[in-house]
Amino acid sequence: MLSVIPIPAFNDNYIWLLQRTETNRAVVVDPGQAEPVLAYLQAHGLTLEAILVTHHHHDHVGGIEELLANTPVPVFGPVNPAIKNISQTLSEGDEIQVLDETLRVLEVPGHTLDHIAYVTDKPEQPLLFCGDSLFSAGCGRLFEGTAEQMYHSLQKYTALSPKTDIFATHEYTLANLDFAIAVEPENQALRDYQKKCLQLREDGEPTLPTTLKQELAINPFLRSSEASLKRNVSSHFALPLADPVDVFRHTRLWKDKF
Ligand SMILES: [Zn+2]
Repeated sequence: MLSVIPIPAFNDNYIWLLQRTETNRAVVVDPGQAEPVLAYLQAHGLTLEAILVTHHHHDHVGGIEELLANTPVPVFGPVNPAIKNISQTLSEGDEIQVLDETLRVLEVPGHTLDHIAYVTDKPEQPLLFCGDSLFSAGCGRLFEGTAEQMYHSLQKYTALSPKTDIFATHEYTLANLDFAIAVEPENQALRDYQKKCLQLREDGEPTLPTTLKQELAINPFLRSSEASLKRNVSSHFALPLADPVDVFRHTRLWKDKF
């Protein structure tokens, strides 16, 4: 088994630390800062074995150099020469071994063109490390890719086991839920989930990880084929939107101005 622990960084980032249960072996995903990772490793007597990177944004790669200065470890990441210190570049379908687990790579362009995600398909513990492509109740902004690319990237996630735990890298859930409720005010699952997340934040707890099952019920960016969402987005733009990609594109446009 793997334990997955959120290390808070910057204002609202989580650097996910994977630990092989009952051992001191650890891996981190998207270390935008080194200090909180080093502090956590030291406090818990852990040894860093590898670094995983999802995309080139500074808040995901900014801590790599300092971590490597402390412990030289393999750095896995996308094919993008702009990211320094990647020791093994990865593409769709590649598999890597970390902490005795196999992680499979998905290319998920949209937020950035280089964006990749890491997934384990083990039926007893399916995990998805999706960087900034997907958030709870939201998805990443389209800085580099098109809505069509992002739509197809997210389709790769909806094909995973609904039990999959999703480790997104920002605590944006409450703000995303305000938007999701504006889009689907009649969705009771959204109201219930908002109540749960408000309580978690009040208690100082992360709302993440979420699960694919939860997101399929509440995330407007995974629900472009739902009749209610189609109807509400069409009515907001006064356009007869039928194609799920068009619905997705317009949902994203709506959120960008929300
Ligand atoms: Zn980003």
